[in-house]
Amino acid sequence: MRIAVLALQGAFIEHEQILARLGIPSFEIRQKRDLENSFDGLIIPGGESTVQGKLMRELDLYDPIKTAVENGLPVFGTCAGLLLLAKKIKNDDRVHFATMDITAVRNAYGRQLGSFYTEAEFGDMGKIPMTFIRAPYIESVSGSAEALASVDGHIVAARQGNQLVTAFHPELNDDLHIHEYFANMVCSAASK
Ligand code: GLN
Repeated sequence: MRIAVLALQGAFIEHEQILARLGIPSFEIRQKRDLENSFDGLIIPGGESTVQGKLMRELDLYDPIKTAVENGLPVFGTCAGLLLLAKKIKNDDRVHFATMDITAVRNAYGRQLGSFYTEAEFGDMGKIPMTFIRAPYIESVSGSAEALASVDGHIVAARQGNQLVTAFHPELNDDLHIHEYFANMVCSAASK
């Protein structure tokens, strides 16, 4: 198994470090020719969705990545990565890959609560540490998208087929569960 990490902007190194701790080989996608490598899953990190969206288009990464995700490439978007995958962003006219049936709210926690830490149930895995930084939340899921975690009544993680998103940053905590969960998704997609 090999996982690509979109490395245009934001917290990509932290994902690579977690993958290394799990013994999963990874490499960075910085330009179009990096897509020639073979890989089984893709992580889209947190950062600024608008900046990543602009860079992806300028670097001609947008179409090939969108097509790959539509064709079932397992993808894990954290925070800005969630916004890049959402079909709808309630307070932003721009959408990006728009492959996931979720409606997100950008910078949903406002200025007062720009960043915070909590622990909440994730799927059937028990409590997971969750660090939020100017995070979105998911207002609603539709189609085959399913909520996996909620904090204060707002959905903060969801899955639809081979797509996984979290509004929080699992790569910033010393807990490997969410990356393990994604690695299992990648494994089962690869064995189909
Ligand atoms: N506020 C950022 C955005 O709108 C997301 C923040 C993050 O990824 N930590 O893209």
